[in-house]
Amino acid sequence: METHRRSSTNSVRSHKPARPIALEDDSTKASDALPLPLYLTNAVFFTLFFSAVYFLLCRWREKIRSSTPLHVVTFSEIVAILASVASFIYLLGFFGIDFVQSLVLRPTADVWATEDDEVESEVLLRNEDARHVPCGQALDRSIRSLQPPAPIVTAEKVFDEMPVTVMTEEDEEIIRSVVRGMTPSYSLESKLGDCKRAAAIRREALQRITGKSLSGLPLDGFDYESILGQCCEMPIGYVQIPVGIAGPLLLNGREYSVPMATTEGCLVASTNRGCKAIHLSGGATSVLLRDGMTRAPVVRFGTAKRAADLKLYLEDPENFETLACVFNRSSRFARLQSIKCAIAGKNLYLRFSCFTGDAMGMNMVSKGVQNVLDFLQTDFPDMDVIGISGNFCSDKKPAAVNWIEGRGKSVVCEAIINGDVVRKVLKTSVESLVELNMLKNLTGSAMAGALGGFNAHASNIVTAVYIATGQDPAQNVESSHCITMMEAVNGGKDLHVSVTMPSIEVGTVGGGTQLASQSACLNLLGVKGASKESPGANSILLATIVAGAVLAGELSLMSALAAGQLVKSHMKYNRSSKDVSKVTS
Ligand code: ADP
Repeated sequence: METHRRSSTNSVRSHKPARPIALEDDSTKASDALPLPLYLTNAVFFTLFFSAVYFLLCRWREKIRSSTPLHVVTFSEIVAILASVASFIYLLGFFGIDFVQSLVLRPTADVWATEDDEVESEVLLRNEDARHVPCGQALDRSIRSLQPPAPIVTAEKVFDEMPVTVMTEEDEEIIRSVVRGMTPSYSLESKLGDCKRAAAIRREALQRITGKSLSGLPLDGFDYESILGQCCEMPIGYVQIPVGIAGPLLLNGREYSVPMATTEGCLVASTNRGCKAIHLSGGATSVLLRDGMTRAPVVRFGTAKRAADLKLYLEDPENFETLACVFNRSSRFARLQSIKCAIAGKNLYLRFSCFTGDAMGMNMVSKGVQNVLDFLQTDFPDMDVIGISGNFCSDKKPAAVNWIEGRGKSVVCEAIINGDVVRKVLKTSVESLVELNMLKNLTGSAMAGALGGFNAHASNIVTAVYIATGQDPAQNVESSHCITMMEAVNGGKDLHVSVTMPSIEVGTVGGGTQLASQSACLNLLGVKGASKESPGANSILLATIVAGAVLAGELSLMSALAAGQLVKSHMKYNRSSKDVSKVTS
């Protein structure tokens, strides 16, 4: 188990940009190329220098006593002088340069003494709530300063290396027309029939209008046709987000490599450590509790009585079948599940819940709701539809209705982490984790009046996986609702850990999921596109993977906290010679 642990630890390290440099220094040094070990060479020159100086001093004392002129030297004295000068030059070169470098660079001793796990824990803690500074920045900067100078790649440099889109005379004319306001920027795609060219012209026009350079924002290397009318309007380029990989996550007996798009250093490494703990303990189990996307229009009547009439009508089981038929016409995948009503005076909120197959389902459910509202208008002509979304849905806002009733996929995921794994991989104890979970994730969150936030950092993992797999990242609000539970089991030896997430909103078709990069990440998980076996199977599997990754992330961060790294990390962080305020600003 120890061997396994070590190799995995190395894979964790490989995610950290600064670590490989430290590792290389540990294993291979430039001096390894020399025939003699460095300490032996130093010892030889030290001895030579002091012996030669001692010999010369003795000789000179004798010469003074015997009144012999000092400049009259014997062969042995010449050899001693040469030896002392040569060894002095060697020693000056060796220690002098090191001394001067240390005065200029001042590497903190504890940077080099820092243990890997401490660094990892330290950065996880800093990343928990606010990541104003990339993790381990103080460390990175010190370490970086001791590396051989690397070529500096500026934004301009990156731009220079990209294929340049050539502008023709005609393009130039269109740019001028956009700058003058004669051609609307949004109409370029339809006018030119070439999305890439439209983006290039819009971008150039924007640079001229604003006088600001966009050289760091790439234009080439993206399929602009693929986002037309679906993902993004008026494109001028694309933002690059690195994708890291955590895993393998052993979930329901299968291994998954989880792609995470993030710019938060150490988030992937943290999740990876959690995956390792889960894997070594036999894996996690994840169960889907409920699957239904919701949309809640708000309608108004002349009186509260009329609003109540509609409520009773909708809640009558005899009417449900008819309404479901009307609703389900919106898509061959849509299946109406329930309509939950809430009244506020004359206003009625109708929360439709529907199965949406492999689609996240917002479009599908909205179409179905529109069908039902049109149908109801016959029996309730006095119904005034105020909005197809009345916020009782509730989309992209923290709301108790999602936390209690669920939205999208409701999933519970659990694992029993072996006590040895808790000690060796997570560097803490079962009791510490259980106590911390109770005081932080349960009591602490209750004290803060949390709504669905009974966890350490579920949203970190949810958002990174969402961006990588083309989900709507704004839905991380409710998708990150999560209660993390920890309990000592098997006589207090092992840890039972679970995450319960009532509103994971994911899809594997529609939206950003069909774009090349996002689609590749879905493919990696084996959930790309519509499931051939059973509609909805891919999106359900993706939701369970999200919950599994959250479980891993919770385990790792909670362990870092329980291991008491907080004070240590702050001590180190505050003692750094770098001015962090300058870095953050
Ligand atoms: P959303 O409703 O999540 O916004 P879209 O409406 O953009 O998603 O995408 C869903 C589309 O994908 C629908 O037109 C639907 O007919 C189609 N589709 C194909 N296969 C499936 C599937 N297995 N599950 C759900 N939708 C599917």
